[in-house]
Amino acid sequence: MRVIVADDDDNFRSLVVEILTGAGYKVAAEINGRLAWERLQAEGADMAVLDVNMPEMDGFQVLRNIRTDDRFKDMPVLMLTIRAFADDQVQGYETGADDYLTKPFDNDVLLSRVKVLERRILKK
Ligand SMILES: [Mg+2]
Repeated sequence: MRVIVADDDDNFRSLVVEILTGAGYKVAAEINGRLAWERLQAEGADMAVLDVNMPEMDGFQVLRNIRTDDRFKDMPVLMLTIRAFADDQVQGYETGADDYLTKPFDNDVLLSRVKVLERRILKK
């Protein structure tokens, strides 16, 4: 199971990579949405974990790109945000996010959310 991760915050990005790698996922991580989108197009992935607030291209734009691309439109996407604002989450779901997690998060919660999305892929 390959996961593309994008977060401009070094600490959170490292943490997500560590948690997912430790659970056996193959992880590709990028520091902004533009690089993540380029990498996704080049290498593909089964799932995406995207920070909302990033320079160059934010998580919402990456999500829009994913949902309008035939190769990736069904890919599960978990959004991360440091802001607990409800409008952020509403915008995320309306853009097609599958799940939403507010930072800081509990490590086990991140992993269990990712596993839920993984089960959905495996059921197909
Ligand atoms: Mg950020």
